[in-house]
Amino acid sequence: MYRTTFAIVDLSALAHNIRLLKGRLAPGVRLLVAVKADAYGHGVRPVVEVLRREGVYQVAVASLEEALQIRAFDKEIPILILGALGVDECVVAAEAKLDVLYTDLCPIPDIPRLPRPLAMHIPIDTGMNRLGFKSIEAALRVIETMAHRADIRFAGVCTHLACADAEDVSHALGQVERLLQAVQTLRDKGCAPPLVHAANSAGLLRGEAWQFDMVRVGIAAYGYSPDPEVLPQPELHPVMHMYTSITRVADVSPGETIGYGATYTAQCPMRVATIAIGYADGFPRILSNRGMVRVRGRDVPIVGRVCMDQAMVDVSHVPEAQVGDFVTVFGIDPPSAWSASAWRSVPPEHRANWLQETFALAANEEGRNVLSLSTVAPLAETIPYEILCQINRRVPKLYV
Ligand code: PLP
Repeated sequence: MYRTTFAIVDLSALAHNIRLLKGRLAPGVRLLVAVKADAYGHGVRPVVEVLRREGVYQVAVASLEEALQIRAFDKEIPILILGALGVDECVVAAEAKLDVLYTDLCPIPDIPRLPRPLAMHIPIDTGMNRLGFKSIEAALRVIETMAHRADIRFAGVCTHLACADAEDVSHALGQVERLLQAVQTLRDKGCAPPLVHAANSAGLLRGEAWQFDMVRVGIAAYGYSPDPEVLPQPELHPVMHMYTSITRVADVSPGETIGYGATYTAQCPMRVATIAIGYADGFPRILSNRGMVRVRGRDVPIVGRVCMDQAMVDVSHVPEAQVGDFVTVFGIDPPSAWSASAWRSVPPEHRANWLQETFALAANEEGRNVLSLSTVAPLAETIPYEILCQINRRVPKLYV
């Protein structure tokens, strides 16, 4: 390791979150964890390995490619693909023991005889208008077609909640109500679904009435409430922490400008630090002149435009800030062992180990604060999900 921009992925925090979420489930409710988009940017393999150890029932991905990526290292873990698949993809899914959603892209009569039975979930559109049947009669017809196929199994019905994290739950309750009606109609017609699932993280956190037979959790597993104002979850531990470091500190005089486009003009004498992170690392450019990072325990504003690989921050109020200081992009403050001189003294090939060990050792260090992604994301007019998914591949992930 040479560049001091990296993410720590704390797998013990992931395990903690999974146990906590399991503890919130009604008896018998299964836990599915969404690991799409490279496990929300955390790295799918290490995440799936933890989920397997923690006894998660199933994982979910967005595409056949993502599912096959998991199958390459785990032949058994149940996987549900949440995206729409074509007929040829359903054939591959059956071969690889992957569960799928029915969509209009894969009409049952068009699916050739499959080498293995394929489990298909029927999505019901209860109000999100994204995927699924709007008419339960149409869903019923497809389920009846499946019944004539020994190689296709009706695995369950599901829906997706659009507003489960909203203060006003009426939209979400309407969706739950419509799902209940759909399930009742199917039961009345002799097609009782083996499994019913609707809840995302917000649904799970709302309580047992929302959980049905299985919940599909994403962001909560990675340590965030879908909306901390509405559903505060201080017991969840963020799994990812991101750091960079200061590469230059300079005095800037009144009237001087900072960065591309000269969008920031110093109004008074300033100390400006350059940090080694930019939008090519997934640090959103929209944070230009409005975001912040944390230097030596203090929040410092970004000044000027975020560049591809660097950004500038105002450290006028952190007089001790110096070149080589570690900077929190989001997450817990760096361990006290992380100093510029310590970094230099560790050979590059041992630095990853050193960072991992010192991070783990500092777990109980007092006075470490968190710059929460739930605080940073709104500054970038987005949600933690998007920032986590967009961290670029050139940012090394160190697992502890
Ligand atoms: N279920 C479906 C169909 C999804 O698309 C997602 C994520 O977008 C989830 C569950 C998990 O949602 P969350 O991360 O909000 O828990």
